[in-house]
Amino acid sequence: MQAAFERRATRRISVGSVPVGGGAPVSIQSMTTTKTDDVQATLIQVHELATQGADIVRVAVPHEGDALALPLIVKEGGVPIIADIHFSVRLAMMALEAGVHGLRLNPGNMRNPKHIKEVADAARERNIPIRIGVNAGSLDKKLIAKHGRPTAEALVESARHEIGLLEEHGFRDIKISVKHQNVAEMISAYRLLANETDAPLHLGVTEAGTPKQGIVKSAIGIGTLLAEGIGDTIRVSLTADPVEEVKVGKQILKTLGLRNEGFDLVACPSCGRAELDVFALANEVESAIEKMDLPPMQIAVMGCEVNGPGEARDADIGIAAGPGRGLLFSKGKQIGWVPHDKLVESLLAEAERVAAEIRSDAVEDGATGGNGAATVVVGAGRRAPTMSIGMGPPKTS
Ligand code: SF4
Repeated sequence: MQAAFERRATRRISVGSVPVGGGAPVSIQSMTTTKTDDVQATLIQVHELATQGADIVRVAVPHEGDALALPLIVKEGGVPIIADIHFSVRLAMMALEAGVHGLRLNPGNMRNPKHIKEVADAARERNIPIRIGVNAGSLDKKLIAKHGRPTAEALVESARHEIGLLEEHGFRDIKISVKHQNVAEMISAYRLLANETDAPLHLGVTEAGTPKQGIVKSAIGIGTLLAEGIGDTIRVSLTADPVEEVKVGKQILKTLGLRNEGFDLVACPSCGRAELDVFALANEVESAIEKMDLPPMQIAVMGCEVNGPGEARDADIGIAAGPGRGLLFSKGKQIGWVPHDKLVESLLAEAERVAAEIRSDAVEDGATGGNGAATVVVGAGRRAPTMSIGMGPPKTS
């Protein structure tokens, strides 16, 4: 596992049981797509997101019926719930009274200073943080006129204004986002903002699109900033099932070494030397391992005996395919040759064995939330994307 990047020093806030900023692990957020007043559907989705690794879940609260649904969603959600509110002081107050763990609200939308004070005071009494969410798509017209378009500077100017509206009332329990659909502007905006405030930052590329484009945009935008130490919590926005957002978020954090959980699958891309169908093998291994409760480990799947053994030996467990059979490695040692049709079975059995060893070592070391990880490398074949897969840990917060 890679070393984590040095993180920017930020002040810490707490969204329910999840600390954000101040050196806390970068948390993953997502947002439900259900109508919030459909409590059952919303809770099902909240639970799905939490199971897949969401630390915090946001729900939209555009109407009174949604606000009325919040007490039960908060009670049964199992993860901190953030209410997304625009304009309405009444809905904001209802959400706070419902016990939400955070608000996403731009005070500038409220216009009336008395309303801002009312919300700030009520949030402070309950220790509820507010995320100021500046978004290129909803930037004030005056700022667009001033800057010509929603530039990074315009976003930061808007954030500065919103922060000021809350600070006027002594409210500093905030995190901030300055999202843009243009990745370069998004990166610039967060860099500028990071120079101005020690408030924790919520990273995201807004309206990133379908997974095909959105995953790349998010990985570049969020990943670049995290690699610079900027960012305390992230949300990947995809035009897709939000569970995909959580999976991509986890993968970004794992790739940067900011999370050490689940398994990392190293698989060769395959080529003319491959001795079997690496794509199929890697996918089969991935699907099987996702269902197993393994400590962090690296698994390698390699398609031939040329480059395969090196990677397979470096992983916790690995396979390098040869003609008709493959060489199984475990913790750097050759375990033996296995026929192609027994490769997956043998690999999984070895993964279980290594997992038991990692757990037992962790107990002996007195480790408490071991972050053992195993690497599985599978390489035998024709073409296979290199991939890392995370098996989300069970959510506790
Ligand atoms: S490891 Fe995979 S990609 Fe590399 S040479 Fe062998 S078959 Fe080709």
